[in-house]
Amino acid sequence: MFAVINPATGEKIKDLQEDTVESVGEKFRSLKAAQLGWAALPLQERLQCLSRFYDLLETEKDELARTLTSEMGKPVSQSYNELKGARNRIRFFLENSERWLSEEWITTEGGTREKITYEPLGVIANISAWNYPYLVGVNVFVPALIGGNTVCYKPSEYASLTGLKIASMLYRSGVPENCFQAVIGGRETGEQLLDLPFDGFYFTGSYKTGKHIAERVAARMVPCQFELGGKDPLYVMDDVVDIDQVAAAALEGVVYNNGQSCCAVERIYVHEDVYDTFLESFVEQCNHMVIGDPMDSATDIGPLSRKEQMAVLNDQVHDAREKGAIQHTGVEPLDLRGYYMRPVVLSNVDHSMKVMKDESFGPVIGIQKVRDDEEAARLMMDTEYGLTAAVYSDDYDRAEKLMKTMHTGTVYWNCCDRVSAGLPWSGRKNSGFGSTLSYTGIRAFVQPKAWHLRG
Ligand code: NAD
Repeated sequence: MFAVINPATGEKIKDLQEDTVESVGEKFRSLKAAQLGWAALPLQERLQCLSRFYDLLETEKDELARTLTSEMGKPVSQSYNELKGARNRIRFFLENSERWLSEEWITTEGGTREKITYEPLGVIANISAWNYPYLVGVNVFVPALIGGNTVCYKPSEYASLTGLKIASMLYRSGVPENCFQAVIGGRETGEQLLDLPFDGFYFTGSYKTGKHIAERVAARMVPCQFELGGKDPLYVMDDVVDIDQVAAAALEGVVYNNGQSCCAVERIYVHEDVYDTFLESFVEQCNHMVIGDPMDSATDIGPLSRKEQMAVLNDQVHDAREKGAIQHTGVEPLDLRGYYMRPVVLSNVDHSMKVMKDESFGPVIGIQKVRDDEEAARLMMDTEYGLTAAVYSDDYDRAEKLMKTMHTGTVYWNCCDRVSAGLPWSGRKNSGFGSTLSYTGIRAFVQPKAWHLRG
């Protein structure tokens, strides 16, 4: 048994029964037995199931949003946004899968005709994170099911109630139980999945766990994808016109989902000519954020999801201050139960500090002054991660020059912390490899077969 805790109060919501080695093995075998039958259905039938799931996310959104907020603490308005975002992604898959999964004729004339077909991988393991359980979940299990795979879905132990709701809605949408199974538990349950002969491992989570999983399953020679953490930089050039608006956008990128986004803005660099104005505006706007009960629709910032993360963040702040950083916000303690923390804005930071190098995954931000674009680009790339990088400027050509040098899966011009269903979502370096979303994220769950046809 493990307890699901409400991070806004520290109180138990309920106890859940963890899966065991036996139950995980049993689930795997049932997924294996059902896979060929699921793949043999016409694509349209699988799409219809996922289309009903898409509808249920709308009709049941009130209960789903409240459940998500209760177990991981994101403001309820953001839980509604997440459900809306998940539906956008599912719609993309519903509208585009047929095109990318259909057979392709390469040569139809001459002695040998050639074509490519796309076949499912088989049974895949989807080990998932808690910060956006719907978004990172649908990125994987929706195209996997559409492609004819069966799925063993392991929600994070911090989003298990949501994981169980996802399973129940899929069943009500017509996906047979032996084509989608949720396994409940934490690290040990995840480990049990790594011992089973899955045909693909799709992981969303931290670099540390991703690296461990990659090492554990490497010898299987099956497809693996890793969507991992980030330390995403944002650079403000000196030619931006509306500095308040840029500060507002950057602040949202820092604190949305309480900073617990893989593509949250984690470092800010500002050209020296606009640095003071930017910092003042950023701090001022930060002081106006509403912190409190995540069930209240007026709340901007709820509790952190995990108690342990408070110590990690406090350590980053302490380390930065010891090395000379100035703390502008978040000094006064909060009189709230639960895992609350005020956002912390630090200036006078540099890359000797943990806050500028290690993933924070919380509402703590360092803002560093830079001389020019060269210095900004060098600092932005001084990281082990490579998820996203953002540039704010009124001059596209100047921004593009810098964006081309970014070794990241995504670059943003005058926006940040966003994901589009039509574009591949992928990391480089310690942010992982493989991509979800876009047509690449449809093809990620099938394997090509080459046909050479004579006669
Ligand atoms: P985590 O690595 O702690 O856990 C992720 C999942 O792995 C959970 O389901 C967990 O139970 C499981 N797990 C833990 N140890 C395991 C093991 N030894 N074997 C198998 N499974 C194991 O990550 P988290 O705290 O859930 O998520 C936060 C991290 O995820 C952050 O680093 C964030 O940046 C990253 N993330 C990345 C993306 C992306 O798209 N790149 C999206 C969301 C989150």
